[in-house]
Amino acid sequence: EVINLNSLFNFVLNRFDMILESDAKNDQTATKNYNILREFTKEDVWVEVDPDKFTQVLDNIMNNAVKYSPDGGTITARLIKTKTRAILSISDQGLGIPRKDLDSIFNRFFRVDKSRSRAQGGTGLGLAISKEVVEKFNGRIWVDSVENKGSTFYISLAYVDEEPEDDWDAE
Ligand code: ATP
Ligand code: MG
Repeated sequence: EVINLNSLFNFVLNRFDMILESDAKNDQTATKNYNILREFTKEDVWVEVDPDKFTQVLDNIMNNAVKYSPDGGTITARLIKTKTRAILSISDQGLGIPRKDLDSIFNRFFRVDKSRSRAQGGTGLGLAISKEVVEKFNGRIWVDSVENKGSTFYISLAYVDEEPEDDWDAE
């Protein structure tokens, strides 16, 4: 299915914003505060993915960004277009990932520092599943991280023309 990546990404981020707003409205202290900054290309980005599965992937990465960040951190969501591929990224100002663990992070059940992770809850499957989904749609997923500074997760996907029919007119 060809979907608009700008809309799908916004939809996921809006939900994370809404969680905070509803906590505030109910006069309840949010479990954790964060700010989401969006830096999106103004161009529409169309990609061929399963929208439900891809939503889960972005949810996973956003959940990690919140879970492994201090209270009040900024999460930056970016969407850009290169010549052939769309690249989206989610950056946090959290714990970061030790260099020696960067290659393992997408493995099933891998969690950095068992004691640190146990306190946070989770199974260590989120990123393994995310990688499977992204690669199924010929995408790539990778991470850049500095311990105690933060992490950026990237996903790249080949983009398609919104209306492939237009190509016929051009011929
Ligand atoms: P779950 O299955 O609930 O997602 P999880 O969050 O532990 O559990 P993954 O999402 O696969 O599992 O992440 C694997 C490990 O990578 C985490 O346990 C954590 O140690 C590390 N990690 C993932 N995202 C981040 C992040 N944004 N900042 C720091 N560490 C991270
Ligand atoms: Mg996770």
